[in-house]
Amino acid sequence: MQPMGNDKPTNVPGRPVSPFRAAPQSSTPFISSGPVVGLEASGASRATTPFLSSGPGTILGASGTPQTTVPFLSSGPITGTQMSNYRSPPPPPVRYNGPSSPPPPTSYPAQDATTYQQTQAPRFPPPGQPVTPFRGPVGSSGPSPSGSFRPQPQIPSVPMGPPPQTATQMSSRSNMPPPLSESSFSATRPPPQPSLQGYSYGLPRGNMPPASAEPQLPAPRSVSQPPLQQAFPSSHVPPVHASYHAHQGGVVPPPPPPIGGPLGYNSREQIQYPNIGPPIGGNLQGLVEEFQSLSVGSAPGSLDHGVDVKSLPRPLSGDEEPIKILETFPLNCHPRFLRLTTYAIPSSQSLLARWHLPLGAVVHPLAEVPDGEEVPIVNFGPAGIIRCRRCRTYVNPYVTFTDAGRKWRCNICSLLNDVSGEYYCALDASGRRCDVDQRPELSKGSVEFVAPTEYMVRPPMPPLYFFLIDVSVSAVRSGFLEVVATTIKSCLDELPGFPRTQIGFLTFDSTLHFHNLKSSLTQPQMLVVADLDDIFLPLPDDLLVNLSDSRHVVDALLDSLPSMFQDNANIESALGPALKAALMVMSQLGGKLLVFQSTLPSIGVGRLRLRGDDLRIYGTDKEHTLRIPDDPFYKQMAAEFTKHQIAVDVYAFSEKYTDIASLGSLAKYTGGQVYHYPSFQAPTHQEKLRYELARDLTRETAWESVMRVRCGKGVRFTTYHGHFMLRSTDLLALPAVDCDKAFAMQLSLEDTLMTTQTVYFQVALLYTSSSGERRIRVHTAAAHVVADLGEMYRQADTGAIILLLSRLAVENTLSHKLEDARQLMQLKLVKSLKEYRNLHVVQHRLGGRLIFPESLRFLPLYVLSLCKSLALRGGYADVPLDERCAAGYNMMILPIRRMLKLLYPGLYRIDENLIKGPEEFNESSKQLALSAQSLDPRALYIYDDGFSFIVWLGRMLSPDIVNNTLGVDLSGFPDLSRLALLEHDNEYSRKLMRIIRRLREKDPSCFQLCRVVRQGEQPREGSLLLSNLFEDQAAGTSGYVDWILQIYRQLQSS
Ligand SMILES: [Zn+2]
Repeated sequence: MQPMGNDKPTNVPGRPVSPFRAAPQSSTPFISSGPVVGLEASGASRATTPFLSSGPGTILGASGTPQTTVPFLSSGPITGTQMSNYRSPPPPPVRYNGPSSPPPPTSYPAQDATTYQQTQAPRFPPPGQPVTPFRGPVGSSGPSPSGSFRPQPQIPSVPMGPPPQTATQMSSRSNMPPPLSESSFSATRPPPQPSLQGYSYGLPRGNMPPASAEPQLPAPRSVSQPPLQQAFPSSHVPPVHASYHAHQGGVVPPPPPPIGGPLGYNSREQIQYPNIGPPIGGNLQGLVEEFQSLSVGSAPGSLDHGVDVKSLPRPLSGDEEPIKILETFPLNCHPRFLRLTTYAIPSSQSLLARWHLPLGAVVHPLAEVPDGEEVPIVNFGPAGIIRCRRCRTYVNPYVTFTDAGRKWRCNICSLLNDVSGEYYCALDASGRRCDVDQRPELSKGSVEFVAPTEYMVRPPMPPLYFFLIDVSVSAVRSGFLEVVATTIKSCLDELPGFPRTQIGFLTFDSTLHFHNLKSSLTQPQMLVVADLDDIFLPLPDDLLVNLSDSRHVVDALLDSLPSMFQDNANIESALGPALKAALMVMSQLGGKLLVFQSTLPSIGVGRLRLRGDDLRIYGTDKEHTLRIPDDPFYKQMAAEFTKHQIAVDVYAFSEKYTDIASLGSLAKYTGGQVYHYPSFQAPTHQEKLRYELARDLTRETAWESVMRVRCGKGVRFTTYHGHFMLRSTDLLALPAVDCDKAFAMQLSLEDTLMTTQTVYFQVALLYTSSSGERRIRVHTAAAHVVADLGEMYRQADTGAIILLLSRLAVENTLSHKLEDARQLMQLKLVKSLKEYRNLHVVQHRLGGRLIFPESLRFLPLYVLSLCKSLALRGGYADVPLDERCAAGYNMMILPIRRMLKLLYPGLYRIDENLIKGPEEFNESSKQLALSAQSLDPRALYIYDDGFSFIVWLGRMLSPDIVNNTLGVDLSGFPDLSRLALLEHDNEYSRKLMRIIRRLREKDPSCFQLCRVVRQGEQPREGSLLLSNLFEDQAAGTSGYVDWILQIYRQLQSS
């Protein structure tokens, strides 16, 4: 997440590419699809076009074809179960160069671009090659040209997933929630894409605390605790980054932190508040379990406060998965897949109103399976999957069997369902089915169902990768074209889905270059289309090819790409027209579109202007417009892509403004990802790009997916946050999804009072595996319903809370000022701690203390870090606009563990490890407070935020270590920004590189660029490291101690 300067590459050999591997698939061939929403008995009623077109104004509604609902299918016996190897080690890579795929012809002269057949495409293709002109939304233009993949003739080609929008919605779910609430929900739902909503608008029914500074404290407490608003009307809430003093009226910016000094960053507080003493307050013995507290005052009621900096809680061991819930609910799925912000669901609206933090869930459906566990695969065979007749919940460990085993009760909607003859089993004396232990779906919280034939809506499409590559002058000069071409080539053997994988390329500058990859050719053929206004496909049949059939042509293309354009002087970029062409090529099959963009799109539809960053706009009510797409074209294209099951990943490389805000919306609404390499220079960044592109291409991907999270009576998910397209009210369309993507959602209560004691949640992800099998991954979990606010706090999960808060905050920056987004988070934190304080303070006379629940002890720090994150910190000039937007997109997909790492990065002293013997570096025992105070000038440190490493060399570090690890003598003041950290032939260097490799292996989802900085080397030390030591004050931001004092002051005020 650091700005990438012009530093040289670090060369860390042996970086393992450990993608999410394709699993050996079940032997059962793919048979079906579609169960998540309504079922399709026969495809006959469906149109061939995957989606009906809809006008630009309704794109987000994404209506589908009408669909019939299949009656509940009776179930059959399990025909076989096996363990899913979704993430287990892969079989050895399959070579494609079999007899049918001759090796790349050596006669293809890679260096001679002229031999590559370049022809101006005829405006009208030769007879026999149908051309489909692009006419508006593709969906409306009828069947597209047939691709090289031919669906089975007798099966109509219809979308697999999620069919049905409104029509099905009613028929398949009409009995689940009360119709009134369903319709009122639709009616009041804010327009289409909730992830565009700022969180002050996120909840349509007002049953969650409004995010704005309205009075929130419940009436019963009003005597001693007047509404917070009174003390802090929204316009007077102290700015998050203002110091404590600013709040008191002065506008004194906090002094810069003394760095490395003996007193360190808290010297100021110590001077200011000399009365730091031992904790005071009531007897805490009985409360140890309940909460923690910090002494912040010398005497109750005193205005002088001090904080013992050492006593501040720090998340030095990273994320703490709430696995304790498995003690209460051992049948729950592992929290890695589904985490709630609190495992105590409030029983009433009034209780919920006192919980000022988000109530919701974080879902990571394809998370890496915990060690030693597997997700079992269940195949019910042709009889069908057992689901509730009414709410379509999948059978799970929490359903109960009655009537001697002839009926089962749905745990979500309580309906009593019949047990079919095939699924029948007698009950034992305690009412358990005798076969529970043999049935994973009744004994495990996570299972994967193989979807049976009757559910078929269209044949599962083969994995498809289409590359849209900018070849304008900047792309060539920066070296990215060459890195991209060689990386793609190196991954061809490992693309998932062999032997069905499809591939295609389109390059562009001011014109579009199509590449004919027909297997009968010996070398590819380029066809240039210059008409950007009325795009047509010159060779509709041969632009997408089967990779194994055309492997030699693809290899030849990738070999020649860099040289083909090496003298290209074209500076234009027709990205918009290129996207339209890509949609035409891909619309039949769907798949993954990888866009490589090195400059601002400048020509044709979707051209963007150099709006850049504007100082004058900051602080005004227009500030947020910088961070939202400039042209609705990109969002409209994203909607079209999603309709056609296409996920878009955006790789952006420009050294200048590229409008990531606009480009990123392609990824945002298609389940994709934004990869940003500002000022890309191959020598520095190629290793990072190679790794990340390779992971993107080779990690196991779930295709044509939809996800729905069901929950029990009385609660309802109301807003969703992440990269997806929302289809209908609660169905997330994910053209592709993988283990690096997590989703967040907020929950609200349906009724004033909940009558059940337990509430259940079930995540269902329907997808096509790369091998072409339809699967449904199902995670089920339960949580207690409580009537006690204290219990909600006790069972709170800081990781889930902070992830949801961060997404709400990022979304908020799309409709509000950065400052407002930060204040809102602070306000939530204060309200929440105030409410908690009210539970205890009178009883225990804790006047001089800041108290907080044990479960939330890191929350204040994480909120502070969030305010200082790239996406939210400062204002103009604090973060380049594109980097800020890229960071925002990034935060919208991160799973909890990576988010927490980003908010509280690791800081490790390692010079001792370099000197000492062979014992292994163990980061968990070495992590330090994230403050310059931790830095000893005699030492060497590594900072690791999960996205980059900074190696910091103290001024007084032994020259022996420096010279040996860097391979240069620092006394000559070499330019460290150009230094590549390589392994040298000595023990110090080998040990250092071993530690770096170890840290990288801990997080395989991206490649951490490693940069070296020396103490006092400005401005690099400041921008790379010091500004990211979140506990310190820096440039107008609060330090941790200041922050705690601010929070405390606000809690005290009344
Ligand atoms: Zn049900």
